[in-house]
Amino acid sequence: MKKILNYIDGSYCEPYTQDWLDNYNPSKGAVYSKIASSSSIDVDKAYQAAKKAFPSWSNTTIDARSAILLKIANLIEDNLDMLAEAESLDNGKPLSLAKTVDIPRASSNFRFFAHAITQFASEAHESVGLETMNFTLRQAIGVVGCISPWNLPLYLFTWKIAPAIAAGNTVVAKPSEVTPMTAFLLGKICTQAGLPNGVLNIINGTGPSVGQAIVEHPNIKAISFTGGTKTGASIARTAAPMFKKLSLELGGKNPNIIFADCNYEKMLSITVKSSFANQGQICLCGSRIFVEKSIYSKFKNDFVSRVKELKVGDPFASSTQIGALVSKPHLDKVMSYIDLAKEEGGEVLYGGNKVIVNGSENGYYLEPTIIEVTNNNCRVNQEEIFGPVVTMMSFDTEEDVLEMANNVKYGLSATLWTSNLDRTMRMSKQIESGIVWVNTWLNRDLRTPFGGVKNSGVGREGGFEALKFFTESKNICIKYDN
Ligand code: NAD
Repeated sequence: MKKILNYIDGSYCEPYTQDWLDNYNPSKGAVYSKIASSSSIDVDKAYQAAKKAFPSWSNTTIDARSAILLKIANLIEDNLDMLAEAESLDNGKPLSLAKTVDIPRASSNFRFFAHAITQFASEAHESVGLETMNFTLRQAIGVVGCISPWNLPLYLFTWKIAPAIAAGNTVVAKPSEVTPMTAFLLGKICTQAGLPNGVLNIINGTGPSVGQAIVEHPNIKAISFTGGTKTGASIARTAAPMFKKLSLELGGKNPNIIFADCNYEKMLSITVKSSFANQGQICLCGSRIFVEKSIYSKFKNDFVSRVKELKVGDPFASSTQIGALVSKPHLDKVMSYIDLAKEEGGEVLYGGNKVIVNGSENGYYLEPTIIEVTNNNCRVNQEEIFGPVVTMMSFDTEEDVLEMANNVKYGLSATLWTSNLDRTMRMSKQIESGIVWVNTWLNRDLRTPFGGVKNSGVGREGGFEALKFFTESKNICIKYDN
């Protein structure tokens, strides 16, 4: 059976303990490869390689670093089909989505930061009249840790690694043990692109073992983490007393707010996507839909009939719009929320059942599910489900919906559908989230700041924010005689 190895110092290697985890193909519900189940010994080996590579890499010219990142971007593009197939097999997402979103974005991440680093400048402050000149150095931090989740595996893994290495750091990285395949394949691509040995090291294994060892490592100076809020809190508890730099991109329970004056057709088709893209397993999905009362029953009918048309099936079939959920435990968790919704008095308007796909009877398929609720305080409206499940309810006024949108512990993103500019400005300013999309969803310009407020995280990624995170700024103050 294929083995997913660690990538340390430019070579693939087995874990020190020779322990292995099962890797599942969610579309079949069957084990199809073995994952290195590494330990702190492997993390330290990776750290040593990264430490050795740091002096040279951090002093490599910006042009040379940029050129290597561009080569990685091109190689990802050249291997689009192979990587998309690997991602779809490992994660259960439709191949069409991996081909058009996940892998192209992984390539864009490297391309973007290859260019961004050439434009990254720092400030100078002349203290006029005092014969003093200050300037800011932005220096690479050293060895940094990057830990990513399973929902957008290569997309989010590269979103961290690209700025980290562009800025001159060396990296110990851990993909999710649920979806490690494309990160494993990236190792070979980095070697082909001429990335010096030790600049990127990839360690596979579980969160409590490998993730924790990265976070606890006394000499890994910064941690960039994307994943669940509970894990983020545990990482913060470990890293904060060690005074590590921390970027935490965590969960969401995002409102999708629909006013009667919106462009209805556009709203309807994008709302289907923002509810169920990637089986609803995107931290930015609009999982709480609020609809203005005057169009509520029309929306309800139209939305249900559009969602009924979505084709759940084998991720490799071209007609499939919704693939398999990522794992059996995750499917069970999502289904438990559908049961909870019923207990709480919610009405399942559509879906709620497992789907049996011919030839893939053990796959983790679930119907896209719409639940009508009447109270924003119910648990299904307050807790992150992270699957193909949305709730919907009506609202009377702008004030009411704003109160409900903000009455949740998360604050990652929000979507607003309206043609009223005044309302757009009023609401955008008051919604508690890191991102507000108006009349669109998941529209990403990589220069913009990305991140959440409240329990959705601390810090921002994207553009120069990421390069600032992955550098330490130092003020140099020079006094001179006139
Ligand atoms: P998770 O927190 O279970 O795991 C994320 C990563 O952390 C994995 O690599 C895991 O092995 C590792 N990990 C687990 N325990 C750890 C520990 N104690 N120390 C260090 N690392 C540890 O999350 P998940 O289930 O893989 O992903 C789903 C979650 O990610 C959802 O909550 C989703 O909203 C969130 N997410 C957020 C964003 C964002 O940008 N804000 C993007 C995607 C996903």
